[in-house]
Amino acid sequence: MSRPSCMGMAIASPGSAGSTPTVPSIRCGRALLLACGAVQTPRLLLASANAHAPQGLANESGQVGRNFMETLAWASSALHPDALGSHRGVPSNGICWDFNAPDAIPGTPGGVRFSVGMVEMDLAGPINYARRVASGWGRAHRAAMRNSFGRVLPVASIGESLPNDGTYIDLDSHARDAHGLALARIHSRIDEPELRRLVFMAGKRRKILQAAGTAKPFEEFGTYDTFNATHVFGTCRMGSDARHSVVDKDCRSHRWRNLFIVDASVFPSSGGESPSLTIEALAIRAGAHIRNLLAQREL
Ligand SMILES: Cc1cc2nc3c(=O)[nH]c(=O)nc-3n(C[C@H](O)[C@H](O)[C@H](O)COP(=O)(O)OP(=O)(O)OC[C@H]3O[C@@H](n4cnc5c(N)ncnc54)[C@H](O)[C@@H]3O)c2cc1C
Repeated sequence: MSRPSCMGMAIASPGSAGSTPTVPSIRCGRALLLACGAVQTPRLLLASANAHAPQGLANESGQVGRNFMETLAWASSALHPDALGSHRGVPSNGICWDFNAPDAIPGTPGGVRFSVGMVEMDLAGPINYARRVASGWGRAHRAAMRNSFGRVLPVASIGESLPNDGTYIDLDSHARDAHGLALARIHSRIDEPELRRLVFMAGKRRKILQAAGTAKPFEEFGTYDTFNATHVFGTCRMGSDARHSVVDKDCRSHRWRNLFIVDASVFPSSGGESPSLTIEALAIRAGAHIRNLLAQREL
């Protein structure tokens, strides 16, 4: 939305755009594309409240900042009796997709994926082995390193989060950044369906490790320990009903017709998967739509 090293502080409204000045629009060039991510985009919109948009810009539905979604994560590491050489080569990212479907987990909507977790667990080199895997001191520690190095098998998984009322972004009424802009506050709650998904992830992974012939996991990390804030979504969700969403299917604000949001904040659900390609695909689709609108002088 801005030139390099520029910080957007607020968005002015209203203005006029294209040949339809009566349609509410933002004061800018012909279109404003906002892509500050799922935390900073709602922050900027909420901070841009004014007489024309008292609840925050594009927040006529009250949904800006709501429906924030994080990423569920669980990872377990166990020692294998054989020298697997698991520290070698490019950290593997073999992924099991068998449980990545909306109804893959019995009784709980939303999917998960499992993968070799060398990268997530940071167990490709000796320092973390020395700190977390091999116990003892002096000769005993050296022997433990010899016996364990390259034998750890970590299995990681990430899972879908769905919106809940306790997980959202709003503005801190006291704390401000160096530019004077109110800080974003992240409210996070793990709801019942997420807990059920986490229990499934942990149980399935222990079974995978057991089937691979490892000992009991010596280390396990849950969602707030590791991956939670890595993939974040929601906060300006896409939808066809302006009462319950912020943008339409083309990432265009329902009310401010020259405002487009092209980042992870438009996701209505999180998908339980790495999001970058979907973010890019949505932005490309929005770009094609904007080009058509410009050609038709509707912007
Ligand atoms: C450690 C890590 C590993 C990841 N690994 C993967 C992966 O393997 N695969 C995958 O698909 N995804 C991965 N992700 C997730 C992926 O990076 C994000 O989902 C994606 O970058 C989000 O894109 P976005 O456009 O929504 O926001 P961002 O990429 O966060 O872009 C927002 C931009 O807006 C700028 N900005 C914010 N506020 C303002 C302002 N007021 N004025 C001006 N500029 C502003 C920010 O500086 C930033 O450049 C990873 C994320 C992390 C943190």
